[in-house]
Amino acid sequence: MYRTHTCGELRKEQVNSEVTLSGWVQRVRNLGGMTFVDLRDRYGITQLVFNAETDNQLCAQANDLGREYVIKITGMVAERSSKNPKIPTGDIEILVKSLTVLNPADLPPFTIEDETDGGDELRMKYRYLDLRRRPIRENMELRHRMAFEVRNYLNQLNFIETETPVLIKSTPEGARDFVVPSRMSPGQFYALPQSPQVFKQLLMVAGFDRYFQIVKCFRDEDLRADRQPEFTQIDCEMSFINQDDVLNTFEGMTKHLFKTIKGVELHGDFPRLSYSEAMNLYGSDKPDIRFGMQFVEITEIAKGHEFKVFDDAEYIAGICAENCAGFTRKELDTLTDFVKRPQIGASGLAYIKYNTDGTIKSSIDKFFNTEELAVIGEKFNAKQGDLILILSGGRKKTQNALGELRLEMGNKLGFRNKNTFAPLWVVDFPLLDWDETSNRFYAMHHPFTSPKPEDIGLLDTDPGKIRANAYDLVINGVEIGGGSIRIHNDELQQKMFSILGFTPEEAENQFGFLMNAFKYGAPPHGGVAFGFDRWVSMFAGTDSIRDVIAFPKNNSGRDVMIDSPSPIHNQQLDELYIQLKKTEDKK
Ligand code: ASP
Repeated sequence: MYRTHTCGELRKEQVNSEVTLSGWVQRVRNLGGMTFVDLRDRYGITQLVFNAETDNQLCAQANDLGREYVIKITGMVAERSSKNPKIPTGDIEILVKSLTVLNPADLPPFTIEDETDGGDELRMKYRYLDLRRRPIRENMELRHRMAFEVRNYLNQLNFIETETPVLIKSTPEGARDFVVPSRMSPGQFYALPQSPQVFKQLLMVAGFDRYFQIVKCFRDEDLRADRQPEFTQIDCEMSFINQDDVLNTFEGMTKHLFKTIKGVELHGDFPRLSYSEAMNLYGSDKPDIRFGMQFVEITEIAKGHEFKVFDDAEYIAGICAENCAGFTRKELDTLTDFVKRPQIGASGLAYIKYNTDGTIKSSIDKFFNTEELAVIGEKFNAKQGDLILILSGGRKKTQNALGELRLEMGNKLGFRNKNTFAPLWVVDFPLLDWDETSNRFYAMHHPFTSPKPEDIGLLDTDPGKIRANAYDLVINGVEIGGGSIRIHNDELQQKMFSILGFTPEEAENQFGFLMNAFKYGAPPHGGVAFGFDRWVSMFAGTDSIRDVIAFPKNNSGRDVMIDSPSPIHNQQLDELYIQLKKTEDKK
């Protein structure tokens, strides 16, 4: 028998009983005569005591133990004279009678402690050691509990978890596909699913009514802290529903997760903001509404003051930062530098300070007199002590830049507390996005999203204006999920493909199966998918989704532990009828 208890289990109640424990050596402290060993497993740490006076040989054996050795001990539970209130087993220790080394260990390349000395790349190479560290293990436990509660909640609502295939055909979620060559059909390739989108729709045609799946999706795109080439979605679809039904169901799931996992009760309905409101008030389709500082547009009143920058601008707007009139020159310069960074792209920043002594000071006072500045202040409801920051230029670009500035101010003023949660639904996204470079429309969500019924008339006249029955769940400025009500009619679907530039043959080739299925009695349906990794990382309070994935890839999409991707043997290539181009041929 390897153990009677785990290393996190023993308390005062077990004092004087004989126990057997197995685990890893966290550390050995040889105090001369007495040796203390911390024994660790997934459940905790228990202190072992070896006394040279009672058993010199056993104590010598303990002194030889190295970090991360796997051992088994038997001993008596004793109450500690100096207790450790920081750990649950801190009231007891084990007076060891016998010790077996089950497996020695090489010295780990970094310390297996909460704060480790290992850099990112090293920790990824030895991820199995990294996973022994408490913070990472706790993230994985959190992930498990969240997946469990999702299943629990959706199961109660009659959702069926159904697996869908991984070797499929291209799915249009807007990224590049990962492809897998087929040996049995030479020259042909499977694509890995960017999402199970078409399959979940087919399950609705099949009458499944309510489907979900916690599922891996694959997208070959440039990586960032919140992106991995393979990631996990909570993917869902429902039949005979309208948009409100979907939002209410998943608002319920969100509240359930917050309550069961975070102990947070989210009261009331989540706010719903249209895409255009979100852009006009926050300059973002994923606004962080933990704080206000909403945009106020002043295009009309700010023009006509012989200030060329404003006069030439399509759009002029600002935010009001309460009690920030005391910002120093240096602070304002830093903010100006911030908005001028190429990623943000503003050409400058104007400010107006409504000082507490009643004076008004501004970077544009050459063009605006005090009364005019006071009128601008009124538009923002600015009080004495407040600071207004203004950007101008093209509408879209300026809204984006002002959105970034607002977030920066939110950070600076401490409004973006990780333990405050502000969820909302952003609804009524545009159906289509015009791409200047390729001169064509793209589906903003994906080609299966249905237009708002009242906008269908615009399909032939002004497709760019059509709003979609599409929605995103946003929490604290992070897009946690998104979905839509789908087209369930083959003619409308065909029309959508043609607006998106597919010839009838291409549409038939790629999605004929779906349009065909729609001919056999497709129910009205819609759904949503949540980025599970992002959600876990938000609950864990980590900045990167890598911290909540057991075996993640690095920023170049590599698994440095198993060293993948890697070349394959010529024989494998031959079987697949693949001949590689020389690397020099690569563009
Ligand atoms: N398949 C979509 C996505 O991955 C979600 C949905 O429309 O349900 O974004």
